[in-house]
Order: sequence, then C-alpha cells, then structure tokens
Amino acid sequence: MNDSSSDDEGAHTGAPKTESVVKAPAVNVTFADIGVMPQLCEACDKLGFKTPTEIQRESIPWALQGRDVIGLAQTGSGKTAAFSLPILQALWNNPSPLFACVMAPTRELAYQISETIEALGSGIGARCAVIVGGMDLISQQIALSKKPHIVVCTPGRLQDHLENTKGFSLRTLKYLVMDEADRLLDMDFGPKIDQILKVIPRERNTFLFSATMTTKVAKLQRASLSNPVKIEVSTKYSTVDKLLQYYMFFPFKRKDCYLVWLLNEMAGQSAIVFARTCNEVLRIGLLLRNLGIEAIPLHGQLAMDKRLGALNKFKSGARNVLVATDVASRGLDIPAVDLVVNFDIPSFSKDYIHRVGRTARAGRSGRAISFVTQYDVELLQRIEQVIGKKLDEFPGEKDAILLLQERVNEAQRMAMLELKDIQSSRGKGNKKRGRGDDDKQISLSEAKKLSKGGRRKN
Ligand code: AMP
Repeated sequence: MNDSSSDDEGAHTGAPKTESVVKAPAVNVTFADIGVMPQLCEACDKLGFKTPTEIQRESIPWALQGRDVIGLAQTGSGKTAAFSLPILQALWNNPSPLFACVMAPTRELAYQISETIEALGSGIGARCAVIVGGMDLISQQIALSKKPHIVVCTPGRLQDHLENTKGFSLRTLKYLVMDEADRLLDMDFGPKIDQILKVIPRERNTFLFSATMTTKVAKLQRASLSNPVKIEVSTKYSTVDKLLQYYMFFPFKRKDCYLVWLLNEMAGQSAIVFARTCNEVLRIGLLLRNLGIEAIPLHGQLAMDKRLGALNKFKSGARNVLVATDVASRGLDIPAVDLVVNFDIPSFSKDYIHRVGRTARAGRSGRAISFVTQYDVELLQRIEQVIGKKLDEFPGEKDAILLLQERVNEAQRMAMLELKDIQSSRGKGNKKRGRGDDDKQISLSEAKKLSKGGRRKN
C-alpha cells in the first residue's frame, strides 16, 4: 500500500505515512481484526467470507478511519465488500437516507454490487436501489422516493434522475464510490460524472476503484478525492502465494491413468478431485475404490443428508479423497485440503478460482493440478489469462504412469458395470418423470425433491 499523499497528491501534505502501518500479515487476519463490527462480520461469515481478501485487508482500516481510498483492483479481488463494509458500518453508526452512491459502468455490475450490499447489509436493515439505463424510469422514481440508504447506478441514468426526478437529490450523500473508474471513463461517462460531482456535497468520503491508473483516472482522482490512500493489489483473483498451480498435459484417453498415478504419488494427503458431471463423479469414485483408493463422491444428485455424511467422512479424515462436481462444492463448507485435482478443467475461469481456493488456506501451502488434454488447451489459456500467470507443468514419469494402464483398464471396466447397475435401478424411478433433461446438472432444491422419490440418471 502507498499513501498517495507522498506522490501524486502533493497538495495534501501531512498525511500519515501508511506503508509500514497497515501492511497486515497476509493470513489469519479476521474481519473483526481490521475493525469490522460484529453484525457485519456475521454477514461476511454467512456469505462464506472467512478472512478478508488483500484489498479488503488493506483498504477497510483506512476507510473506517474516514480516509478516501483509491483501490487499484479488479473484479474478483473482493473490492465490492472492500467499499461496502465501511459504508455499511458508517451507515449503522449514523443512519440517514441517500447515504451513499455507487457508480458502476454497466447495469450488470450495478446489479451485482447491489446484491452484495444487500447481502452484507440485510442484518442492519440497509436498503439499496439500483438506478440503471434501459429500465423503467417510473419504477426507479418510486424506488428513489422511498429514500434508500444506498443508490447503485450507472452515471447516465443517475444524472437523468438528478435533473428530472422531482424531490430527488444527493444533498445528504456521505459516501461516493466510483467503481471500475477506468471503464467508466472509457465509456465516456466522464462529463456525466463531472456533472454529478458538482451537485453532491464536497464534504464526503470517496472511494475510487480502477483496474489500472490511467491518465484519465488520475485526473478524476485529483478532481474528486481528498488526501486519498492508494492501495494496489496485484492480481485479479487472490490465488495465494502458497498455492502451487500446475497442469499435466496428456491424451484424453489417459485421464484415469494419470489420476490414479497422481493420487498414489500423493498418498496420505487430502485431495479433492473435481469432475464436470455427477455421472463422472460417480464413475471416478467407483474406479478409485476398485483400485483400493477410498474415495467419496459428492454431487448435486445426492440427498442432502448423504452429502453431509460424505462431507463429514472427508472432514474427519475417514476418507482422504473427495470426488466432487462444482454444484456440490458450492454452498457447502468443504474443508481445506492439500491437493485439488481438476480432472475436468472447468469451463468457467471463476470455477477454477473457486476450486483451487479449497487449498492453500489459512497460511498452509497447497497444490492444484489441472488435467489438460488435446481438447482443453483453450480453457487452460483462458484460466491463465484470468489469474494472470502461467501454470507450471507438473513433473510426471510418463513411462511409470503408463505402467498402471492395465490395472486401471480393469478397474474402469468394473466401474462401468457398477455404474450401469446404479443407473438401471435409478432408471426405474426415472420413467415416471420423463427423460428429456437427463444431461442437465440439477439444482439443490431439485436434488432434494428427487431424493424423495428416487433419483434420475445424469
Ligand atoms: P468482487 O471483486 O467484489 O467482484 O468479488 C469477487 C468474488 O469474491 C465474489 O464472488 C465475492 O462473493 C467473493 N468474495 C469477496 N470477498 C471475499 C472474501 N473475503 N472471502 C471469500 N470470498 C470473497
């Protein structure tokens, strides 16, 4: 973290030097440690935010002290909570309508931000309105007339309401957030923002977030922030330093063989193997068991009690390999593990972050190994782009790995037979429901319903 007063805000002399004060240790810091009040810590916990991300750790203490903040951080860094938590805390201490305004470049981002604010602020009764272009003006006017605490908006529509909606003003505003400022300015919102800045109180706190510090952003910063603290976080997603990320590249038909080799190499460590479909999770679970690896499957088609049972076996160490889909891994408190294997590389980069985030937690080190076949190269490249780094190749002796092939083939055959048995017993219950959606992954509520009257095949 830098205190910008020392560089580009020369006019604001006398600001405390921040470099050595706030550089918090990277781990084991809680939201309470950085000054977040208990009600909001509880909200973070409910959202699964166990520890603050880097941008949160570095910026929240300053924001809570009432400083303006420039955050050089991108979507995925946890910046929404970084600016929302201090605003909600200030709102709790000093409630008033139209307390804060968050400007975002796109409607989608505005809705996403408001969802986070609502989730974090629900326990303290914070009310939020979204004011974006392309949506009905009248219903937005009604929403504004109800005096929400926080308005999340795109600048054009906000200016529209400031000019045309009777009785609406931002005179009471205490906090202004300009999110993704570089995109706001690229989209030519500059003149609208200038207009807005003219009609809101100068006595306010301002948080400006941007992926990069362009000349335009620096200009906006000088025009709108006072004595700001500048915080820069390096990557989009905080894949922590102690997480070692690798890939293994081999032909598609060798996937099972490589998995068995890898789990044997890592014997004794706790591992989660992620696969794309419920069926694949089941098949891999059976395959591994046939080879004496006690793996436990976890997927969205299991009834909730079975899922929790599976998870407990894994948590207690009774089994140290969990085979799971993304659907199952979401919303369940899966413990930290030594190794994450992406048996199927995820199609969405966000899922990659989510999966590898199961390891290297709380200061421990961990490894994530992604299987890449001839069909997955593009997906790997996309992930590398998102996390901002190239994965290393995980070393493996090809000849030694292929020695396992025969045993693996036998175990595969048995697993397929067992799987067919399972599917045909499910199929009987299935006929009643029709079969058009057999390939879809199902939601938890669907799975719960299905678990009552037999399950469908995936
Ligand atoms: P953002 O950068 O605000 O778009 O956040 C990116 C993702 O990180 C969102 O899915 C958030 O829910 C999640 N997130 C934010 N803060 C934390 C945290 N402290 N711990 C875990 N996840 C978080």
